[in-house]
Amino acid sequence: MELNFKQELTAVFGHPVAENPTQAMVEAAYRYHNLAWRYLTVEVLPEDLGAAVAGARAMGWQGFNLTIPHKVAVMPFLDSIGESAQKIGAVNCVVARDGGLVGENTDGRGFLESLREVVDPAGLDVMILGSGGAARAVAVELALAGAGALTIVNRTESSGRALVEDLRKVGATASFRPWDETISVPESTQVLVNATSIGLFPDVKGCPPVDFAALAPHTVVADVIPNPPSTPFLRHAAARGCRTIDGLGMLINQGRLGIRYWTGVDPDAAVMRSALETIFSQEG
Ligand code: NDP
Repeated sequence: MELNFKQELTAVFGHPVAENPTQAMVEAAYRYHNLAWRYLTVEVLPEDLGAAVAGARAMGWQGFNLTIPHKVAVMPFLDSIGESAQKIGAVNCVVARDGGLVGENTDGRGFLESLREVVDPAGLDVMILGSGGAARAVAVELALAGAGALTIVNRTESSGRALVEDLRKVGATASFRPWDETISVPESTQVLVNATSIGLFPDVKGCPPVDFAALAPHTVVADVIPNPPSTPFLRHAAARGCRTIDGLGMLINQGRLGIRYWTGVDPDAAVMRSALETIFSQEG
């Protein structure tokens, strides 16, 4: 029998990174699909990012994810950038391909896969709360998927307006609305997305100030917050009769896209969801 003790390596680079649960989700998929691969959680300081990428390159790693604060800073260290990552302006997944390192962005596409399980966004009017990294990825992918009018609502006007400008550059119909004390969602809105960090553990009672009493039940409501998966935002929307989509689906789908890029295997989503749910249920 031929012996092979070499494992293929993948990772997430971040700072701070210790609480990032992606390893549990990805390694559950590797085990389930009998892949002799590992996924490491690696603390990388901003000033060491170039050296970390060079190290991964020298050791022949198959790829790695980037999380805060590396998603934009990593771009100069790569050989090429995929189309949607270029348009989003950030990379969250690096893939070793044809002898080089290619930067991709799977956050927005992960969100789209979750949304499409409920509704096809083509032609639909969407309101997005937030204009940070997650909002940017979600909004650009929605624009590329042919969504109708996109409304960006953000506390800091300058970054909200900058996102609107970038969306117009990819051909979207986009506009900015200020972050009011109470955000009223027009009845014409078909999809409402919380892409802020409000509601993320430990801020589990946090909720964007939407006027839920006036929210139309036909609006599909999605949250990017993966932990906890059930947020006050989604619970208020469900109480109005809206269909809801949690942020765990986005996290799992972006992970699946990464595993597909690296290994060529389409991993089982249920195995990955179960690994994350076990972790999040232990946390409260
Ligand atoms: P950023 O820091 O880039 O952006 C945060 C956004 O939230 C900004 O628009 C910010 O507004 C807004 N915000 C934060 N606090 C408040 C507040 N109190 N009132 C009003 N607006 C507020 O973070 P990311 O975009 O990278 O991440 C956002 C969330 O998305 C995180 O919770 C993260 O966990 C989640 N995420 C989920 C993923 C998934 O797979 N499910 C993938 C990636 C991210 P302002 O511009 O005014 O500061």
